[in-house]
Amino acid sequence: MPHDSATSMRLAGAAASHVGLVRSHNEDSGFAGPGLLLVADGVGGHASGEVASSVAARTVAAAALEHPLVDPVATLAEALRRSQRLVAQGALAPGRSGMATTLTAVLGDGERFALLQLGDSRAYALRDGDLVRLGRDHTVVQELVESGSLTSEEARVHPWRHVVTRVLGGDPDETGEVTVLALRPGDRLLLCSDGLSNLVPEATLESLVREHDDAGAVDALVQAALDAGGRDNVTCVVATVVTGLPRSWAGELVGAAREPGPDGLARPA
Ligand code: MN
Repeated sequence: MPHDSATSMRLAGAAASHVGLVRSHNEDSGFAGPGLLLVADGVGGHASGEVASSVAARTVAAAALEHPLVDPVATLAEALRRSQRLVAQGALAPGRSGMATTLTAVLGDGERFALLQLGDSRAYALRDGDLVRLGRDHTVVQELVESGSLTSEEARVHPWRHVVTRVLGGDPDETGEVTVLALRPGDRLLLCSDGLSNLVPEATLESLVREHDDAGAVDALVQAALDAGGRDNVTCVVATVVTGLPRSWAGELVGAAREPGPDGLARPA
Protein backbone atom coordinates (compact mmCIF):
# COMPACT_ATOMS: atom_id res chain seq x y z
CA MET A 1 0.00 0.00 0.00
CA PRO A 2 1.26 3.51 -0.77
CA HIS A 3 2.80 5.42 2.10
CA ASP A 4 4.30 8.34 0.26
CA SER A 5 4.40 11.64 2.07
CA ALA A 6 1.89 13.30 -0.24
CA THR A 7 -1.10 11.02 0.35
CA SER A 8 -0.35 9.37 3.69
CA MET A 9 -2.65 10.50 6.55
CA ARG A 10 -1.55 11.01 10.12
CA LEU A 11 -2.69 12.82 13.24
CA ALA A 12 -1.37 16.09 14.63
CA GLY A 13 -2.68 17.15 18.02
CA ALA A 14 -2.32 17.66 21.73
CA ALA A 15 -3.23 15.97 25.02
CA ALA A 16 -3.91 17.29 28.52
CA SER A 17 -4.74 15.66 31.84
CA HIS A 18 -5.69 17.22 35.18
CA VAL A 19 -6.36 15.68 38.58
CA GLY A 20 -9.45 17.88 38.95
CA LEU A 21 -10.61 19.72 42.07
CA VAL A 22 -11.81 16.83 44.27
CA ARG A 23 -9.70 13.71 43.73
CA SER A 24 -6.37 13.28 45.54
CA HIS A 25 -4.56 11.83 42.50
CA ASN A 26 -4.92 11.26 38.80
CA GLU A 27 -5.96 7.78 37.62
CA ASP A 28 -6.39 8.86 33.97
CA SER A 29 -3.75 8.41 31.29
CA GLY A 30 -3.59 9.77 27.75
CA PHE A 31 -1.40 9.75 24.66
CA ALA A 32 -1.21 11.85 21.50
CA GLY A 33 1.12 10.93 18.64
CA PRO A 34 1.11 10.97 14.82
CA GLY A 35 -0.31 7.45 14.59
CA LEU A 36 -2.18 7.04 17.87
CA LEU A 37 -4.54 8.89 20.19
CA LEU A 38 -5.80 7.32 23.42
CA VAL A 39 -7.49 7.94 26.73
CA ALA A 40 -7.54 5.42 29.60
CA ASP A 41 -9.46 6.06 32.85
CA GLY A 42 -8.48 3.93 35.83
CA VAL A 43 -11.86 2.72 37.01
CA GLY A 44 -13.06 4.26 40.27
CA GLY A 45 -13.73 1.83 43.06
CA HIS A 46 -11.00 -0.50 41.87
CA ALA A 47 -7.56 -0.63 43.49
CA SER A 48 -4.70 1.02 41.63
CA GLY A 49 -6.68 2.35 38.69
CA GLU A 50 -3.73 4.58 37.81
CA VAL A 51 -1.52 1.51 37.38
CA ALA A 52 -4.05 -0.11 35.04
CA SER A 53 -4.46 3.05 32.95
CA SER A 54 -0.66 3.53 32.77
CA VAL A 55 -0.12 -0.08 31.67
CA ALA A 56 -2.77 0.24 28.96
CA ALA A 57 -1.48 3.61 27.69
CA ARG A 58 2.16 2.53 27.60
CA THR A 59 1.38 -0.88 26.06
CA VAL A 60 -0.78 0.49 23.24
CA ALA A 61 1.66 3.37 22.62
CA ALA A 62 4.52 0.85 22.39
CA ALA A 63 2.54 -1.29 19.92
CA ALA A 64 1.88 1.77 17.76
CA LEU A 65 5.60 2.62 17.76
CA GLU A 66 6.59 -0.96 16.93
CA HIS A 67 4.18 -1.19 14.00
CA PRO A 68 3.62 2.36 12.70
CA LEU A 69 2.32 1.40 9.25
CA VAL A 70 0.58 -1.91 9.93
CA ASP A 71 -3.15 -2.81 9.86
CA PRO A 72 -4.58 -0.73 12.74
CA VAL A 73 -7.41 -3.20 13.49
CA ALA A 74 -4.98 -6.07 14.07
CA THR A 75 -2.49 -3.87 15.94
CA LEU A 76 -5.16 -2.56 18.34
CA ALA A 77 -6.53 -6.07 18.93
CA GLU A 78 -3.05 -7.40 19.72
CA ALA A 79 -2.20 -4.40 21.94
CA LEU A 80 -5.40 -4.98 23.91
CA ARG A 81 -4.59 -8.68 24.36
CA ARG A 82 -1.12 -7.70 25.60
CA SER A 83 -2.61 -5.10 27.96
CA GLN A 84 -5.05 -7.66 29.36
CA ARG A 85 -2.16 -10.05 30.12
CA LEU A 86 -0.10 -7.32 31.82
CA VAL A 87 -3.05 -6.05 33.90
CA ALA A 88 -3.88 -9.64 34.94
CA GLN A 89 -0.26 -10.17 36.04
CA GLY A 90 -0.10 -6.75 37.72
CA ALA A 91 -3.28 -7.44 39.67
CA LEU A 92 -1.45 -10.26 41.49
CA ALA A 93 0.66 -7.64 43.36
CA PRO A 94 -0.45 -6.64 46.87
CA GLY A 95 -3.15 -3.95 46.86
CA ARG A 96 -3.75 -4.23 43.12
CA SER A 97 -6.43 -6.91 43.02
CA GLY A 98 -9.25 -5.89 40.70
CA MET A 99 -7.42 -3.01 39.05
CA ALA A 100 -9.02 -1.98 35.75
CA THR A 101 -9.23 0.81 33.21
CA THR A 102 -11.28 2.04 30.30
CA LEU A 103 -9.53 2.33 26.94
CA THR A 104 -10.52 4.43 23.94
CA ALA A 105 -7.90 4.57 21.18
CA VAL A 106 -7.65 5.66 17.54
CA LEU A 107 -4.80 4.20 15.49
CA GLY A 108 -3.86 4.92 11.87
CA ASP A 109 -1.55 3.21 9.37
CA GLY A 110 -1.29 6.09 6.92
CA GLU A 111 -4.44 5.09 5.02
CA ARG A 112 -6.95 3.71 7.48
CA PHE A 113 -7.92 4.55 11.04
CA ALA A 114 -9.47 2.19 13.58
CA LEU A 115 -11.22 2.91 16.88
CA LEU A 116 -10.95 0.63 19.90
CA GLN A 117 -13.59 1.21 22.56
CA LEU A 118 -13.77 -0.46 25.97
CA GLY A 119 -15.63 1.28 28.78
CA ASP A 120 -17.01 4.83 28.90
CA SER A 121 -14.22 7.09 27.70
CA ARG A 122 -15.43 8.90 24.58
CA ALA A 123 -14.33 9.46 21.01
CA TYR A 124 -15.87 12.18 18.82
CA ALA A 125 -15.21 13.42 15.31
CA LEU A 126 -15.66 17.04 14.27
CA ARG A 127 -16.34 17.40 10.52
CA ASP A 128 -17.65 20.58 8.91
CA GLY A 129 -18.29 22.01 12.38
CA ASP A 130 -20.47 19.15 13.65
CA LEU A 131 -19.42 16.96 16.56
CA VAL A 132 -20.38 13.29 16.06
CA ARG A 133 -19.93 10.60 18.67
CA LEU A 134 -17.96 7.52 17.54
CA GLY A 135 -18.48 4.15 19.16
CA ARG A 136 -20.65 3.62 22.22
CA ASP A 137 -20.25 3.61 26.00
CA HIS A 138 -20.16 0.29 27.79
CA THR A 139 -22.42 1.46 30.62
CA VAL A 140 -25.76 0.65 32.18
CA VAL A 141 -27.15 4.06 31.19
CA GLN A 142 -26.07 3.58 27.54
CA GLU A 143 -28.11 0.37 27.52
CA LEU A 144 -31.06 2.38 28.88
CA VAL A 145 -30.56 5.03 26.14
CA GLU A 146 -30.48 2.33 23.45
CA SER A 147 -33.66 0.74 24.81
CA GLY A 148 -35.36 4.17 24.70
CA SER A 149 -35.69 4.52 28.50
CA LEU A 150 -33.39 7.58 28.75
CA THR A 151 -32.30 10.46 26.54
CA SER A 152 -28.56 11.08 26.21
CA GLU A 153 -28.88 14.32 28.22
CA GLU A 154 -30.70 12.41 31.01
CA ALA A 155 -27.93 9.81 30.86
CA ARG A 156 -25.28 12.49 31.40
CA VAL A 157 -26.63 13.30 34.88
CA HIS A 158 -28.10 9.89 35.79
CA PRO A 159 -26.96 8.52 39.20
CA TRP A 160 -25.85 5.27 37.51
CA ARG A 161 -23.77 7.06 34.87
CA HIS A 162 -20.51 5.77 36.41
CA VAL A 163 -21.54 2.10 36.25
CA VAL A 164 -19.34 0.63 33.53
CA THR A 165 -20.30 -2.80 32.16
CA ARG A 166 -17.07 -3.63 30.27
CA VAL A 167 -13.48 -2.69 31.19
CA LEU A 168 -9.85 -3.66 30.62
CA GLY A 169 -9.32 -5.63 33.81
CA GLY A 170 -7.26 -8.67 32.83
CA ASP A 171 -9.97 -10.82 31.22
CA PRO A 172 -8.44 -12.35 28.05
CA ASP A 173 -11.93 -12.86 26.58
CA GLU A 174 -12.72 -9.10 26.70
CA THR A 175 -11.64 -7.91 23.26
CA GLY A 176 -13.44 -4.55 23.26
CA GLU A 177 -15.06 -3.18 20.11
CA VAL A 178 -12.87 -2.26 17.14
CA THR A 179 -14.35 -0.35 14.22
CA VAL A 180 -12.82 1.19 11.09
CA LEU A 181 -13.29 4.97 10.82
CA ALA A 182 -13.77 6.77 7.51
CA LEU A 183 -11.63 9.85 8.15
CA ARG A 184 -10.26 12.39 5.71
CA PRO A 185 -7.79 15.28 5.96
CA GLY A 186 -9.24 18.18 7.93
CA ASP A 187 -11.36 15.98 10.21
CA ARG A 188 -10.70 16.56 13.89
CA LEU A 189 -10.96 14.04 16.71
CA LEU A 190 -11.70 14.48 20.41
CA LEU A 191 -11.05 11.68 22.89
CA CYS A 192 -11.90 12.27 26.55
CA SER A 193 -12.50 10.65 29.91
CA ASP A 194 -15.86 10.91 31.67
CA GLY A 195 -14.38 13.66 33.85
CA LEU A 196 -15.05 15.86 30.82
CA SER A 197 -18.07 14.25 29.14
CA ASN A 198 -20.09 13.88 32.35
CA LEU A 199 -19.55 17.52 33.33
CA VAL A 200 -19.68 19.44 30.05
CA PRO A 201 -22.57 19.17 27.52
CA GLU A 202 -21.75 17.99 24.01
CA ALA A 203 -22.80 21.34 22.52
CA THR A 204 -20.07 23.02 24.60
CA LEU A 205 -17.49 20.39 23.61
CA GLU A 206 -18.38 21.09 19.96
CA SER A 207 -18.01 24.86 20.24
CA LEU A 208 -14.77 24.69 22.25
CA VAL A 209 -13.13 22.36 19.69
CA ARG A 210 -14.44 24.47 16.81
CA GLU A 211 -13.20 27.75 18.32
CA HIS A 212 -9.65 26.63 19.17
CA ASP A 213 -6.70 24.94 17.52
CA ASP A 214 -5.83 21.52 18.95
CA ALA A 215 -3.49 22.73 21.70
CA GLY A 216 -5.86 25.53 22.65
CA ALA A 217 -8.82 23.14 22.66
CA VAL A 218 -7.36 20.69 25.19
CA ASP A 219 -6.65 23.57 27.57
CA ALA A 220 -10.13 25.06 27.09
CA LEU A 221 -11.82 21.67 27.58
CA VAL A 222 -9.92 20.94 30.82
CA GLN A 223 -10.82 24.43 32.05
CA ALA A 224 -14.50 23.82 31.21
CA ALA A 225 -14.46 20.62 33.31
CA LEU A 226 -12.83 22.50 36.21
CA ASP A 227 -15.38 25.33 35.89
CA ALA A 228 -18.13 22.67 36.09
CA GLY A 229 -16.78 21.45 39.43
CA GLY A 230 -13.87 19.22 38.40
CA ARG A 231 -15.19 16.35 40.51
CA ASP A 232 -13.26 13.71 38.54
CA ASN A 233 -9.90 13.45 36.83
CA VAL A 234 -10.17 14.98 33.36
CA THR A 235 -8.19 13.92 30.29
CA CYS A 236 -8.65 14.92 26.67
CA VAL A 237 -6.89 14.60 23.34
CA VAL A 238 -7.70 16.75 20.31
CA ALA A 239 -6.09 16.10 16.93
CA THR A 240 -6.48 16.92 13.26
CA VAL A 241 -6.12 14.48 10.35
CA VAL A 242 -3.31 15.83 8.16
CA THR A 243 -1.29 14.50 5.22
CA GLY A 244 2.41 13.74 5.12
CA LEU A 245 4.60 11.31 7.01
CA PRO A 246 5.80 12.50 10.44
CA ARG A 247 9.45 13.14 11.23
CA SER A 248 9.01 10.79 14.20
CA TRP A 249 6.25 8.47 15.41
CA ALA A 250 6.96 9.40 19.04
CA GLY A 251 4.17 11.11 20.94
CA GLU A 252 3.32 12.53 24.34
CA LEU A 253 2.04 10.67 27.41
CA VAL A 254 -0.08 12.60 29.93
CA GLY A 255 -1.68 11.83 33.28
CA ALA A 256 -0.77 8.82 35.41
CA ALA A 257 1.27 7.19 32.62
CA ARG A 258 3.54 10.24 32.71
CA GLU A 259 3.44 11.03 36.44
CA PRO A 260 2.33 8.12 38.65
CA GLY A 261 0.40 9.20 41.74
CA PRO A 262 1.10 8.33 45.38
CA ASP A 263 -0.52 4.89 45.00
CA GLY A 264 1.16 4.39 41.67
CA LEU A 265 4.04 2.50 40.18
CA ALA A 266 6.46 3.06 43.09
CA ARG A 267 4.18 1.80 45.86
CA PRO A 268 6.06 -0.62 48.15
CA ALA A 269 4.67 -4.14 48.40
MN1 MN B 1 -13.27 9.22 35.28
